[in-house]
Amino acid sequence: MPDQAADVIVVGAGNAAFCAALAAQEQGASVVMLEAAPEAESGGNSRFTAGSIRVVYNGVDDIKTLVPDLTSAEVDSTDFGTYTAAQFFDDMARVTQHRADPDLVELLVTRSFSTLNWMRAKGVRFIPIYGRQAFKIDGKFRFWGGLTVESVGGGSGLVAMLTDAAQKRGVGIRYRTRAIGLLYDGGGVEGVRVREEGALRELRARSVVLASGGFEANPEWRTRYLGPGWDLAKVRGSRFNTGDGIRMALDIGASPRGNWSGCHAVQWEMNAPEFGDLAVGDQFQKHSYPFGILINATGRRFVDEGADFRNYTYAKYGRVVLEQPGQFAWQIFDRKVKHLLRDEYKIRQITKVAANTIEEFAQKLEGVNAAEFIKTVKQWNAAVRTDLPFNPSVKDGRCTQGLAVDKSNWANTIDTPPFEGYAVTCGVTFTFGGLPINNDAEVLNTDYRPIRGLYAAGELVGGLFYFNYPGGAGLMSGAVFGKIAGKAAANRGTI
Ligand SMILES: Cc1cc2nc3c(=O)[nH]c(=O)nc-3n(C[C@H](O)[C@H](O)[C@H](O)COP(=O)(O)OP(=O)(O)OC[C@H]3O[C@@H](n4cnc5c(N)ncnc54)[C@H](O)[C@@H]3O)c2cc1C
Repeated sequence: MPDQAADVIVVGAGNAAFCAALAAQEQGASVVMLEAAPEAESGGNSRFTAGSIRVVYNGVDDIKTLVPDLTSAEVDSTDFGTYTAAQFFDDMARVTQHRADPDLVELLVTRSFSTLNWMRAKGVRFIPIYGRQAFKIDGKFRFWGGLTVESVGGGSGLVAMLTDAAQKRGVGIRYRTRAIGLLYDGGGVEGVRVREEGALRELRARSVVLASGGFEANPEWRTRYLGPGWDLAKVRGSRFNTGDGIRMALDIGASPRGNWSGCHAVQWEMNAPEFGDLAVGDQFQKHSYPFGILINATGRRFVDEGADFRNYTYAKYGRVVLEQPGQFAWQIFDRKVKHLLRDEYKIRQITKVAANTIEEFAQKLEGVNAAEFIKTVKQWNAAVRTDLPFNPSVKDGRCTQGLAVDKSNWANTIDTPPFEGYAVTCGVTFTFGGLPINNDAEVLNTDYRPIRGLYAAGELVGGLFYFNYPGGAGLMSGAVFGKIAGKAAANRGTI
């Protein structure tokens, strides 16, 4: 016999799911969340994040609204700049090569600031990302890349604050409960079939919000949709996001939508485990490559490391590394830029070599053609436009000239020991293909009509990201569409 679980069932317990649950609860609905993971591993990819979140702000006053305890010393010593709606629209259009769905982008951009304030009112606290998104220039911190705030405590802090906010408001969370199918009578969705404590159960609800992530942790689907070789990528985050929500919806006639062959994938420590490790979090990533060069097994460069700010290239360069022989690369730096390397370069679980001469260094780069590498460095040093000033906080145009693969910004000679190399492979973050939703986050069927009672938010929404992604947009998307989905799910039939 099916149980009447709640008015609204939310599948998942990551950022999108919590925002949906809180928004549904706010409307007076009873809410139950289903989480496949045990409590110790719960929170999905959201928990693995740094908590960086891309939001529109028009100046320091907006930052003060999001971060009310910002001190006047911080305000005086910081140039926050702006990240206007126009900038966010431009970024979404540019990085997705104008394929992002305009309706989804409109909601993402125009609701970002109000949604973050709503989360703050629910108990989530934010701070400026001084450590990773600002450089101190002439005594003043200057933010760059459109990414300025993060949740206190990073992703684990975010999930802890959201869990607390939900539980305080009476939202139930059933851990170790995997949704495996939707109850559907041909007219609308009436609940969820689950596997819980080794038993199969049916849970009824007036509506269901799917917020169970993409299919990044499913090597068979990765190979099927992203292509050959993607089974070899490391998974940066949760091992629980195996595409169930997408499959369950397709099984009852939902349409597939978006960039099914695309995903967010970054450069990731070569010897990292197969799935994310919560004790290390996102520290396996290696994001300072714009200040060095990337070398593959042939000893040659293969990509413009400085094509844009890190926030606009990192999510597509994992794929580029996966395409190299042996699926690895070495990031190379010299002493001149060492101070710019992010904290993640200081962790213990790292594949690193260092040497004082290029010849000795070349021998240490495992798997690399040493003679070719030495030649590459010579050609590189001769091609750097050292006549142009280097400035990490702007696109400085300090490029190389005349190489087979030139670098557009932040080019520095590699001539000052010690030389350092860090081995990376491809780490997949999340997949872009998923389900179509309308402006109420209702899932659409193959006739592009809403499936009554079914809503979706977060990674499994298709149509927003293609080829690439602006850093911090994942959490913002989950929050905006989670809030919309939760509200609409609670009001099903009444609005
Ligand atoms: C290492 C790392 C760092 C990142 N850093 C950032 C960042 O700083 N900023 C940013 O914006 N984005 C970042 N991202 C991307 C970001 O994590 C995602 O875009 C976002 O968290 C997705 O939220 P979500 O709620 O859709 O999915 P998730 O947070 O992954 O939640 C999915 C939930 O569904 C559950 N689940 C899955 N299948 C089932 C099932 N069948 N039944 C029940 N439950 C199920 C999972 O256990 C999980 O609780 C990062 C990702 C990783 C991996």
